Parts: sequence; structure tokens; C-alpha cells
Amino acid sequence: MATRKTKIVNLMTCPFCENSSEFFEVAEDALITTYYSQNRDGSFTANDQSFEILGNVQLFCGNCGENLDNFHERFREMIF
Ligand SMILES: [Zn+2]
Repeated sequence: MATRKTKIVNLMTCPFCENSSEFFEVAEDALITTYYSQNRDGSFTANDQSFEILGNVQLFCGNCGENLDNFHERFREMIF
């Protein structure tokens, strides 16, 4: 039987407040297209939406709101 090694995960942590759970991105210029179907009663239902980001995207801490752009590349690589 193979021995299972304990996996050590190096979490990304905000250097300002040590938050390691909540983050958000802000896109400066985005083209958002929403597709609608009209229903029989004349109302509309959104079916699909597509986003095309034209400007810069910046990463921020979800707790203290500081800009975390130095971590952005790593953040991007770890989105699954
Ligand atoms: Zn923070």
C-alpha cells in the first residue's frame, strides 16, 4: 500500500489583513451581451450572457479591499 503524503497547500493570503478566503476581480471595460427570449405573455427571459473584457482586470482582497495585483498571475493560474 502506498503511503499518502500530506499535501501542504500554500494559501494565497492578503498581506494587509491576512484574509485567505475572499477575493474579487474588477474589470475596467467589459462588453456584456445578454440574450433574451420573448414569452407568449410578452415578458422576456434571459437565456444566456457573454462577457468580453476589453480593459484591465485587477484583483482585490474581499475583506479589506486592498489591491492585490502582485498576486494576480498566481490567482489566475489557480482558478478551476
Ligand atoms: Zn485584505
